[in-house]
Amino acid sequence: MANKIRFSKAKELDFYTTLNKRVDEYFIFNKISKNANWVMIFKTLFYLGVFTAAYLLLILNETNVAGQFALWIIIGFFTAFIGLNISHDAIHGSFSRHKWVNRVLSYTFNIIGANAYLWGIMHNIVHHTYTNIEGHDEDIESVPLLRMSPHQKLLKVHRHQYWYAFIFYGFASLSWVFIKDYVKFFKKKIGNYDNMKHPRIEYFNLFFFKAVYYTIFLIVPMILIKALWWQILLGFFVLHFCEGITMAIIFMLAHVVEETNFPLPNEKGNMDNSWAVHQLYTTADFGRENNVLNFLCGGLNFQIEHHLYPRICHVHYKPISNIVKETAEEYNLRYNANPTFAGAIRSHIRLLKKLGKVELVPLAG
Ligand SMILES: [Zn+2]
Repeated sequence: MANKIRFSKAKELDFYTTLNKRVDEYFIFNKISKNANWVMIFKTLFYLGVFTAAYLLLILNETNVAGQFALWIIIGFFTAFIGLNISHDAIHGSFSRHKWVNRVLSYTFNIIGANAYLWGIMHNIVHHTYTNIEGHDEDIESVPLLRMSPHQKLLKVHRHQYWYAFIFYGFASLSWVFIKDYVKFFKKKIGNYDNMKHPRIEYFNLFFFKAVYYTIFLIVPMILIKALWWQILLGFFVLHFCEGITMAIIFMLAHVVEETNFPLPNEKGNMDNSWAVHQLYTTADFGRENNVLNFLCGGLNFQIEHHLYPRICHVHYKPISNIVKETAEEYNLRYNANPTFAGAIRSHIRLLKKLGKVELVPLAG
């Protein structure tokens, strides 16, 4: 059962209706599908190919110890890219119009150590619906040492978080594969859902795929790689540091920057804005013209477009972002975008500084 949060209907302003019509027209006019195209198929083969090749070179002892560390780093970044580019789309059901294709590709998430079923709940439902709402969006809640929203308790140590936060980001995927999934799976409450019950098969999947992951990335390397045990463990840690920091930063730049809001419902559970406007105000794009970012981020530098259209494959976000931006401006709605990646990082650091010093930060309205 969900504790009800209601988005306003009064302020819909026809924005989303008009936008939906224009976005649909874009696909009809250009005679293209909303799902994967050849670019997406190339990306999928590229990310999975490099990842597999790097892993095989590592376990087949094709390099010396220094080379092994380079391979651990490559595997780390490519794990993040697989998660962002392939698994994320597949779990949203946007990769293909065929359900089975999405289901098969969503297993890439399990292979990289995270649980696709839980992500479907925490991300697709909780995060995508209740974005940046304290107590409902689990993605802005991490550890007490990080204050990611003005509604979280301010501690003295938070004044330093603008630099130490990045160390925590490096541990994000490590905690995911060893702690987070288990804790969330056995917790009764996820986001605003009380009394969660999971299908029996998911208990099996959780433990089975975790065991597969630990076998592929810890046990097999320990048996096959010609290096000292601590060098292998250090390599595994380096993999996760690269993966975690990549995933965490991309999330932070989209939701935890100076431009985004952290609205709360009133005592009746009502939100000020409609769902679509809420998504617009709690989300930010970054580096929209940067083609390297577009290739690496799985369209998540077009996070506004992703939040409004999670069922559209990310390779289409760049062209439809112009439609979203123009329509938002036409309806006098703020469209948050940091022009560059570096600018978005600076904005994130400035917000971390503010959140580390003041009880309630005055937010962009
Ligand atoms: Zn998503």
